[in-house]
Amino acid sequence: MVKEFQMWIGGRWAAAQSGQTREVRDPGNGELLAKVPEGDGRDAAAAIQAARAAFDAGPWRKTTAQDRGKLLFRLADKIRGAAKMLAELEVRNCGKPLAEAEFDVADAANCFEFYGGLASKIHGHTMSVPANSMSFVLREPIGVCGQIIPWNYPLLMAAWKLAPALAAGNTCVLKPSELTPLTALELARLMAELDLPPGVVNVITGPGVGAGEELARSALVDKVAFTGGTATGRKIISGAAGNIKKTSLELGGKNPNIVFADADFAAAVDGALFAAFANQGEVCSAGSRLLVEESIHKRLVEAMLAKIPNVKLGHGLKAGVKMGPLISAAHREKVESYIRLGQEEGARLVCGGKRPKGAEFDKGFFVEPTIFDGVKPSMRIAREEIFGPVLAVIPFADEAEAIRLANDTEYGLAAAVWTKDITRGLRVVRELRAGITWINTYHPTYNEMPWGGYKQSGWGRELGLYGIEEYLETKQVNINLDEAPTCQLI
Ligand code: NDP
Repeated sequence: MVKEFQMWIGGRWAAAQSGQTREVRDPGNGELLAKVPEGDGRDAAAAIQAARAAFDAGPWRKTTAQDRGKLLFRLADKIRGAAKMLAELEVRNCGKPLAEAEFDVADAANCFEFYGGLASKIHGHTMSVPANSMSFVLREPIGVCGQIIPWNYPLLMAAWKLAPALAAGNTCVLKPSELTPLTALELARLMAELDLPPGVVNVITGPGVGAGEELARSALVDKVAFTGGTATGRKIISGAAGNIKKTSLELGGKNPNIVFADADFAAAVDGALFAAFANQGEVCSAGSRLLVEESIHKRLVEAMLAKIPNVKLGHGLKAGVKMGPLISAAHREKVESYIRLGQEEGARLVCGGKRPKGAEFDKGFFVEPTIFDGVKPSMRIAREEIFGPVLAVIPFADEAEAIRLANDTEYGLAAAVWTKDITRGLRVVRELRAGITWINTYHPTYNEMPWGGYKQSGWGRELGLYGIEEYLETKQVNINLDEAPTCQLI
């Protein structure tokens, strides 16, 4: 049966004011999964009003940090209790393999738990010089947070946004992508069971143009947090300029994965495939540029090609599947246009590049794992974020060239180095202009550690102790300890 969802606004379930709904389909087989409200700017405005009222006048402001923490712990438990349902729904809605969705659900629960623990550890500094005064810092919530998330990690991105915001005492309006709203709406259902004061969390659905824009633009929103494409990020910035909102952005990447000749060869081969094709390559931190030292270049490409048949394509719920469909027909078109472009630019397509054949693929948006060799750093497939299973292999001569090529991008999200020489590994990492780096591994990251990019990959950091800073104001409080006034005009 097709499930019908409503939005969660001001502690109530609500249809779109327009009365419109949207069909949400499985990108792996076209199956109709659910109908959700097709919200627009009016629904966003209603949710913002609810969040504003909850922040300005509601009981949330008086909730202690300890109690906020306990709420987040309870939410983590609820997510774990619903883990199977959430993971399967995530697979059906965004296409990823089940094992990846199960990891995301567990990580989302851990994220709420991490920030639940952190809620009561938000403290400011104190200064007591000069002797007749004391000065201390209060950390306070920013206010109403508009949070806009993409379709590649729907539940996890909801957790990354909501957990620190709530731990810090803010109120939130979360807008998932119109393509993947289902796990965020299920999360809202779990939060509704927590007896949060009405309006503290609101989850709205609808397209970015309309519902999302309102979150970026509204003068009643104090902070906007966005994860998505760089072009949309620019629009968020201009929307946020109206009332100089606090803004955090996690945008794209064209991330270098550097393999030196002295690396553990087998590990580097597996690492390169995982870096490029995990989550169908629909990952901002995907290792989409493989920089390989010339002396092992040919052997490494051959070794990857030998393993490509093991990257089993299929519906994410099917056992053994390693790569699911892309998110939509439009996105597959975009990825395929880059594959055509790569060939036109003169790169050598060594595998993939096509839609897989067979009845099981007919109704989904599948593209084979695709590798281009002989890619020149100037080619567009080496410079632009494709956000799909397309890997560009670029040889390099020495360490200096590897570093130069790695940094030759407008992005600066992630980067990795494979070498057995730890001195070289650390030396190269020091030179990389990227916010997340790995040595001899790719992709692992932790709720406890900061996530975000240099350059055009974004503003600010999510996760870890750094992540909560993005949701806090800082107030200086000065106290005169003298009986007599210390500042006099005359
Ligand atoms: P977007 O950046 O457009 O979407 C991300 C989120 O922003 C979605 O919730 C979207 O809503 C919303 N949004 C879209 N336009 C606006 C707007 N004007 N104001 C406010 N919110 C808006 O990603 P796309 O789906 O269009 O993908 C385009 C490219 O972006 C991809 O090909 C990829 O390169 C990159 N991308 C990067 C991601 C990352 O994690 N860094 C994640 C997703 C995409 P809705 O979807 O409902 O329209």
